[in-house]
Formats: sequence, structure tokens, C-alpha cells
Amino acid sequence: MSRAFDVGLESLSALVANPAPANGPNQSPTVAPADGGKSFFIETFGCQMNDHDSEKVSGVLLGRGYRAVESPAQANLVLYNTCSIREKAAQKVFARLGDWKTTSNGKIIGVLGCLAQQEGEEIFERAPWVSLVCGSASYRRLPDLITDLESGGRRVTGLDLDTDETFETEITRRDNPFRAYLTIIEGCDYSCSYCVVPHTRGPERSRSSDSVLAEVRRLADAGYTEIQLLGQTVNSYRDPSPRKWNFVNLLQAVAAVPGIRRVRFTTSHPNDFTREIVEAIDSTPALCDHIHLPVQSGSTRVLGAMRRTYTREQYLEKIEWIRSARRPISLTTDIIIGFPGETETDFEETLSLLSAIQSDGVFAFKYSPRPNTPARDWPDAVPEEEKGRRLAILQEHQRRIQIANNELLIGKEFEVLVDARHSARDQWAGRTTSNRILNFTSPHGNLLGEYVQARITRGGPNSLVGEQLL
Ligand code: SF4
Repeated sequence: MSRAFDVGLESLSALVANPAPANGPNQSPTVAPADGGKSFFIETFGCQMNDHDSEKVSGVLLGRGYRAVESPAQANLVLYNTCSIREKAAQKVFARLGDWKTTSNGKIIGVLGCLAQQEGEEIFERAPWVSLVCGSASYRRLPDLITDLESGGRRVTGLDLDTDETFETEITRRDNPFRAYLTIIEGCDYSCSYCVVPHTRGPERSRSSDSVLAEVRRLADAGYTEIQLLGQTVNSYRDPSPRKWNFVNLLQAVAAVPGIRRVRFTTSHPNDFTREIVEAIDSTPALCDHIHLPVQSGSTRVLGAMRRTYTREQYLEKIEWIRSARRPISLTTDIIIGFPGETETDFEETLSLLSAIQSDGVFAFKYSPRPNTPARDWPDAVPEEEKGRRLAILQEHQRRIQIANNELLIGKEFEVLVDARHSARDQWAGRTTSNRILNFTSPHGNLLGEYVQARITRGGPNSLVGEQLL
């Protein structure tokens, strides 16, 4: 079955009641081809923040009479919402743009997101057939930029960073029928020496608690039960309204909205990670028992060079708070391998940190130098081959930890929000509140969107297998 996802908030109830399978994580959803008129296609690269920005950009376009179409070939307006966190992601976007060199045929081609902000008008030089370049800090200006294009503008840009506004829209097209994403804070005030985000997304701006809660209530009315709060440093949240709520105040208020059963948040910065967050999870069942807390390295020396603002010991202290909670809380983290100057000893410290924290997942990447970052030209680069060797060792090390962690769960029972069906394996799949993927068998019919109890029968490195409790 293939169904449109081009809905505003008012029509979400129907969608949640009758959800459609996802079309692939980063592709524009499938809708009926445009029968003339204005149409758009948007492809998204990168993180969940980008996925959600694309939902909001789609909402802006739908509100202006555009229709979403299933392929770029069918669209008048083709947008790429880009990522520049790693070199590879940026290369991929330029390869996509290259496809239009001789075939754009009057289409408007636009580049949004981090690469747009990073490269700016250089994009017009490299791909003269592009008409729109807009960074995420300027999305508020998108309607005006599109108006300029519609009235014949050849090249328009939105590249300001000094905005204190967040990007809010009247209509957001939700691509995920089970989990609603909601950005509460944009930009970043940290200055990690490897990271482009402060340059591409601008300074930190929090959304008012009233505006966040109003959207959560609308989502709950529309049938959503799971909310994921987003921000580059989500736990740095500071309510700009006179209420002056901190992150924990906001978490508890969102969890108290009638109809909301699960609240997640990502990504937390260790520096702003407080004991109160753990206490809130402990005392509030609707707050999911999962924390993603990127460490990046197990070596205090490397953390200093990365300008992460905490030491190995301070990070481990925060993990101790999580481990001493009454509720078992699942932990995941990020690691950068081969940061300039990382020695074998530093790398071994990262492995020993992973052994100490026993996290349930690690997103590990080889360091890649990025433009406009202090670390870009630092000496002592680790050779690519060595980075690859360390990455493989780390992945195997972590794989063994995850297998052991997941085997300990055999026989335990979890609640799952079902979000997929694997017909070939005759299994349903979903996530536990601890964000583990659980594939399970059930004699029942359509379980999509349902909360069910399942017992674990097997644990693999990246997922669990079980059976529904009847
Ligand atoms: S905290 Fe550091 S890594 Fe995270 S977005 Fe900000 S600068 Fe980048």
C-alpha cells in the first residue's frame, strides 16, 4: 500500500488511525503525481533535525498550493536538504546536483540546510543551474524566497545566521505516522573544534514553552502518542518566555499532556546533563528510559583538543547517575575515531570507556576535516588506513558488548510500539521505551501503531527477537 503523507495537523488523526508504511528514511513520500500546477520533491540528508526541517519546509510548500510528487522528474521544484557534518555527505549532494547539469528543463533546483550555509553562493559557481540556496537559520524567510523565484527571480539566497527566531510553521507535514518530531532548540553555542554546526545552524535559540506545549497538544489530539524532542543540544533548553522553564520543567510538562505515552529527546550534551534529568525519568513513566549522550572520545586529552568542555571522569560520573536510577535506563553514545593527534593510548582509553559504560549502541565515525572548523588544518592527522583499523576494532569491541547486554534481556518483557511488518519473516517490529528494536511474532492481524507486550527470546547485536504475550 502506498499512501499520501501530505497532511496538515488537522488531518493527522485520520492518518494515525490508518497509518501507511514509511517510504524509506530519507526520501520524499509517495503521493499522486501532480496534474499540472506547482509541485515539489524534497530529498533529505543527515540527522533527525534535518528530517524534521524537511517536514516543516514541506508544510510551507503545501500551504502555498504546491503538491508533493514521487520523483524529482515530476517536480517543478526540487529541493535537497543537506548535511555537511562529514565530507562524504557533502560529496553526495554535489553528485545529486550534477545530475541536473543538462536536464533541469526549467525546474527550480534548491539547496537547503547545512551545506547551503557552509558553501553559500559558491554553490551557484559549482552548479549554475541551482536557483535557491538557503541555510536552516533562514528558513523563516523561505516563503519570501519562493515568492521571489515564482516571480522570475534567477537566484535567491537565505544565508543569515544572526536570527534569534526559530522556524515554526502553521502546517507541518508529518512523515512518520507513529512518532512526531518537534524541535525545541535550534543552533548551538558550543564550539567543538571539529564541528560545522555553530557555523551552519547559528547560535542557540529555544522555542517558548507555550508554543512547544500547544504543538504537543495538537499532536496528541491528532492521535500521536510518542513525541521526540529535538535539538543539537536539546538539554541546553532555556525557555525564552517569562516562565523561564529549564529542560526538566519542559520534559515534565510535555509528558503530562493527556494522550502522550512516550517522550524521547535527542541529542544531549554531557555538559548540560544534570542529575535532575535522571530523576525526572525515574519518576515520570512517560519519559522514555533511553539517553543518547555523545562522549566522542575516552581520552581527556583528546576531549580537551575537541573542546568538549568535560573530562573522561566527568562523563563517567554522569553515567554513574544514569546507572544508579531505579529504572534501568538504556544508554547510547557517539565516538569520533582518529581525531588529529589521537594516539594508540588515547584510542585504548576510548575502548576502555566503552567497556566501562556498557552502552547499548555506539555511532562511531572516522574523523573528517570540515571547512570553517579549527581542527581542519591541525597537524598530526591520523592516516585514513589507521582510522579504518581503529574503527573496525571499536565496532567489534562494541558488538560484543551489545550481544552480551541483549542476551541478558532474554525472558524479560517489554512494551513495544509497533511500527513495521516484515512479511518475509512473519514478524512485527517496533521500539521499546528504551529504544531497542524488537522483532516479534504474533497471531494477531494488523498491529501497526499498537502498543503490545512482548517477551524476549533471543538477543542479537543490534536488535531483539521475541513473541507477543497473549
Ligand atoms: S555541541 Fe559541539 S558537536 Fe554538538 S552541535 Fe554543538 S559544536 Fe557541534
